[in-house]
Amino acid sequence: MSLEWKNNIIYLTFDDGPTPEVTPWVLSLLNKYQSKATFFCLGKNAELYPDIIYQIKKNGHSIGIHGYEHLNGWKTCKKRYLENIHKASQVLPSEIFRPPYGKITPWQWLSLKKQYRIIWWTYLSKDYSSKKNKWYLFKKLLNHSHHQSIIVFHDTPKAFPFLNNYFEQYLQWLNENDFTCLPIK
Ligand SMILES: [Zn+2]
Repeated sequence: MSLEWKNNIIYLTFDDGPTPEVTPWVLSLLNKYQSKATFFCLGKNAELYPDIIYQIKKNGHSIGIHGYEHLNGWKTCKKRYLENIHKASQVLPSEIFRPPYGKITPWQWLSLKKQYRIIWWTYLSKDYSSKKNKWYLFKKLLNHSHHQSIIVFHDTPKAFPFLNNYFEQYLQWLNENDFTCLPIK
């Protein structure tokens, strides 16, 4: 029986990396819990840290494109938006794309969907929030973790205070509740 038939599949995704401060830390925790994830990387970061990109792939995770820069599709003309993604694809060979901020115009979307699967999410963890009460974010994250959920995290320094407090606890909780974390292919 293939894993996809299991009833407790969850997709962990990490946007905006790779960063040397956080991505290797995330990779080692994912390894510890034998969990797989998808990293929607920025081309400019991938260019700076090709060794981390190599580690992500070597560990069996998926790589997705999140742009070369973190552009807002609503504020960027189609030509420039597509060029930016094309530039990212030179360093991030992938068939999946996630628009930064989830903001993309119908015209950009129509062009991109010929080449990529556009991956949205079911729950944004708000791991980057500077609010003090991170326990509340953690409880909400658990409440939104179901079969087939696609959860957004960020492997960036801004998200690290939350991840450092709760990501391992989250992976433990997923394990205890018999979830399997798979990469998006
Ligand atoms: Zn992003």
